[in-house]
Amino acid sequence: MSEPIPFHKALIEEEDVQAVADAVRSGWLTMGPGVLSFEEAFKARVDTSYGLAVNSCTAALHLSLDAIGLQAGDEVLVPAMTFAATAEVVCYFGAKPVFIDIQATTQCMDPDLLETALTSKTKAIIPVHYAGQPADMDEIIAFADKHGLKVIEDAAHALPATYKGRDIGSIGDLTAFSFYATKTLVTGEGGMVTTNRQEYADRIKIMRLHGMSKDAWKRNTSQGSWFYEVVAPGFKYNMTDPAAAMGRVQLAKLDRMADMRRKIDRAYRAQLDCHFIDFLEAKTDRTSAAHLFVIKLKPSCALDRNQLIEKLAGLGIMTSVHFIPLPLQPAYKPFVGAAQTFPVALGAYERMLSLPIWPGMTEGMVERVAQTINELVKGD
Ligand SMILES: *Cc1c(COP(=O)(O)O)cnc(C)c1O
Repeated sequence: MSEPIPFHKALIEEEDVQAVADAVRSGWLTMGPGVLSFEEAFKARVDTSYGLAVNSCTAALHLSLDAIGLQAGDEVLVPAMTFAATAEVVCYFGAKPVFIDIQATTQCMDPDLLETALTSKTKAIIPVHYAGQPADMDEIIAFADKHGLKVIEDAAHALPATYKGRDIGSIGDLTAFSFYATKTLVTGEGGMVTTNRQEYADRIKIMRLHGMSKDAWKRNTSQGSWFYEVVAPGFKYNMTDPAAAMGRVQLAKLDRMADMRRKIDRAYRAQLDCHFIDFLEAKTDRTSAAHLFVIKLKPSCALDRNQLIEKLAGLGIMTSVHFIPLPLQPAYKPFVGAAQTFPVALGAYERMLSLPIWPGMTEGMVERVAQTINELVKGD
């Protein structure tokens, strides 16, 4: 059998290893100059005023909801097809995630359905830029403005991506990014919040480190003092310096990595047999980070999604499913309204899978994945 093709493999090169080693040797292990340097570079890259590094996208989302003052009993609109993190952070406050069905074409939150879920308790919307392609931000922001809601973007898939010429990270009230091991920029674990509002940035800076009113790096320099104030019961969400050092190196090659992903995306679209397979629509007014390549099997396929995943795994091609819709999960069933059915998300879930797409994947590997799938779906 040919070499297995993993579902994902991060692009870790000698420069990543060197940067982490240098950070460790410097002795400054956390909240030091490496974190500040990564934040500066990151906010410049996504064209925003503030960038706050944290230890996950989940932390970034949690801190964002804290910054807008989410309270127990409030409601937040989230897409039905996303990772658990998007909804769990709402529950941290004793608030309620309200699920919105997705568009069939992009699998992002359907803005036409927001109205049906609006109540006097609705406080915010968390759109997810599914697979790396931005959601319909104009429609979502217009709706939010009309009803006085905040927009927090879950951009775990969308680095780098643009919407009508603007960088994701610079558009909503706050944006949360992930640097988890499988995402488009990796630090192992890590995340970033970006915002253009100083008030939010100030609050997040304090809350990511125990609610303390001074940064650790200032306290530990000779100019700093030992004095600090705890102004709120905060969290322990700060990023480490070795992680930031790797983030800085990954950021420098972000566009190169994105080009590699986009090339694979185009190759799959050209090579996979569209008689049997549907693709997500690639909108022309936005660019995708191409984090995931999701296909949906047409009814004409010779085998179903589960059979295809199993057959591919047997041939050394690893795939995945993003995501099991949250309304199907035991923890989130209690948040589903009696009249809510999510026909688009549930229908897509039955017949979709995600193919390997990672920088460093060769043209030969992409061809092998496409050809193998074409043969299997045809059934000969
Ligand atoms: C991965 C992911 C997250 C969580 O990211 P972490 O950095 O692991 O906390 C949140 N939302 C979506 C849509 C994701 O795919």
